[in-house]
Amino acid sequence: MAAISSFPFDSSYLPKSERDTLKVLEKLGEVVHRVWEKQVDSKTGSTTFYPEDLSREELMVAAKKNPKLISPYTVVKRDKNRKLVAVNFRDEYSKEHDRMVELLTLAAKTTKEKRLSAYLSRTATYINKGDFDSVMKLFLTVPNTSIDILVGPIESYNDSFMGVKKSYQYSLRVLRTQETQEVVEMTKIVEKLGILKPSKSVAAKLKSDKIKVRVDDVLMFAGRQAGSMPSSTNLPNQPEWVAKYGTKIVVYHNALLKKFDTQLKQYLKNVKKFDPKRTKDAMSQANYRLIVLHEIAEGIVKYKGMENRLGEYIDVIRELNADLFGVRSAKYHVLNGLISIEQYNELLIAFLVFAINVCHKAKKEPSIMVYARGFYVAFNYFMKSKSVVFKDNTMTVDFAKLSVDIDVLSNLVVGLMENGTSDDARKMFDKWSDASITEKLIKAN
Ligand SMILES: [Zn+2]
Repeated sequence: MAAISSFPFDSSYLPKSERDTLKVLEKLGEVVHRVWEKQVDSKTGSTTFYPEDLSREELMVAAKKNPKLISPYTVVKRDKNRKLVAVNFRDEYSKEHDRMVELLTLAAKTTKEKRLSAYLSRTATYINKGDFDSVMKLFLTVPNTSIDILVGPIESYNDSFMGVKKSYQYSLRVLRTQETQEVVEMTKIVEKLGILKPSKSVAAKLKSDKIKVRVDDVLMFAGRQAGSMPSSTNLPNQPEWVAKYGTKIVVYHNALLKKFDTQLKQYLKNVKKFDPKRTKDAMSQANYRLIVLHEIAEGIVKYKGMENRLGEYIDVIRELNADLFGVRSAKYHVLNGLISIEQYNELLIAFLVFAINVCHKAKKEPSIMVYARGFYVAFNYFMKSKSVVFKDNTMTVDFAKLSVDIDVLSNLVVGLMENGTSDDARKMFDKWSDASITEKLIKAN
């Protein structure tokens, strides 16, 4: 099993009550992790949501009479007459849920921050009822508290059979006030740029107070995110939910810096006419900006019905769009004097390096294939137009050309999100997503 990821965190600046609260919430993560281990075998990826001999047809027929069978929050089983029955997560993992409620209630009593206390005890109430939609709504709408958690069955990526059942995940984080304010400023600039907010996107009408941002230090990832090192996240995915509750972006400060140092920095010496020493801190900054812009773009560019229209391509396209649109929006930050041309070029390098790393890693980690497939398209396109040239493990970048290429690709992808179907997407991927391109990319060595 993938183990819980814990990050070193110096909590000495916090009052004792809050340090104690964190200890209780670490225990909560361990309980969530146990539920996830019951749901998903992390080695094989197989899940325990359905009986082994079940076919989609049988399930869909039975679900007409009993819609709970295809609820995100139930396990499907057979009774002794082999009839299909739905068991609520709350009951299936009853002991673990009782313990979660206990720990959340204890944490609510331990903290001295009133708003956090109310947040934790409401979360406990919803978990006790098995009302996981309300847990998510609360997470999305609560004003920033110093400590934050994400708890419950969240995404359905693990359900390869139907793509509906959600698996448990958990994160425990502490707010970084100053960095949060900086990201809020970046969000405001994107907000003001009508040109960058596709007018038919459901988020186009969102007031900026509906875009919530936090920059946090992570103490723990458990459940579905255990063992991985995400840099950031934004929720919810469904456009209809974004329209109602807004979007919440969380940047994982310490995880992000660690990833740059351990995985990305090494590529820079293979970039031609680019001094990695001169740009040491600048590149860490650029990587930071890249991740933030990705999440803002992912949060604001969403179209009604895109999930149904794009079918199996939705995740790949959503992520590719966030990358392209995010980098593209930085050009307007230059125009607004927020960053210099040099910083914009550094952002382009950060984007390429990030993408190259994903392409190499996807061979061993199927979970990031959803990102890699978009980058295969990008690199096939860039290499064809020669905005990026790879030779003898070096990379040469024509910044002006690359910037144009990104605009062109980004327009195409936004078009697919607005009106496209899975057939349209397939045409693009059949033509441009040759994965063997990875062999030509620079390596970290
Ligand atoms: Zn994303």
